[in-house]
Amino acid sequence: MTWKLPPQSSFTFGKHSEAELAGFEFPVHPKLQAVTRLALAISGCDFGIHDGVRTVAEGEANFVAGTSRTHHSKHQDGLAVDAVPWSNGKMSWRPDHCFQVAVAHQLASRFLRIPIIWGGAWDRMLAELVGTPKIAHQAYVERFERANPGTKALVDLVHFQLVLP
Ligand SMILES: [Zn+2]
Repeated sequence: MTWKLPPQSSFTFGKHSEAELAGFEFPVHPKLQAVTRLALAISGCDFGIHDGVRTVAEGEANFVAGTSRTHHSKHQDGLAVDAVPWSNGKMSWRPDHCFQVAVAHQLASRFLRIPIIWGGAWDRMLAELVGTPKIAHQAYVERFERANPGTKALVDLVHFQLVLP
């Protein structure tokens, strides 16, 4: 099956995004960089890398703050990025913007055949989600909450992580 890519965007990563991808001790995994860079080139919505390689201390702070359920996040291994949409010069976590960024990552993941998981539907590969990311995300939340009564699904619409073979 071939995947059609939309026209190229004019978006490029700024200094902060490049620094996040370069990391402090080691960079974000080259395969994940390839996906997110292609995603930016075809995205309908501009985005920046808010969080690339995270230090152990940053990971712990997020766990304590409740924004992460794991002590050892994929960010600490350079295997995850948070791709946050830009809207009117500000970073935006608005779901409709995040879904556009997810569409771009989905197309890039399919085209490059590099499997990634999106924080909007943790239990499937992004490339294999059925329907738009928005529909797939709603289906994930229903699935999770049916399987785990009383527990709210952890959702992170800006998070993309590499799946290693
Ligand atoms: Zn993340």
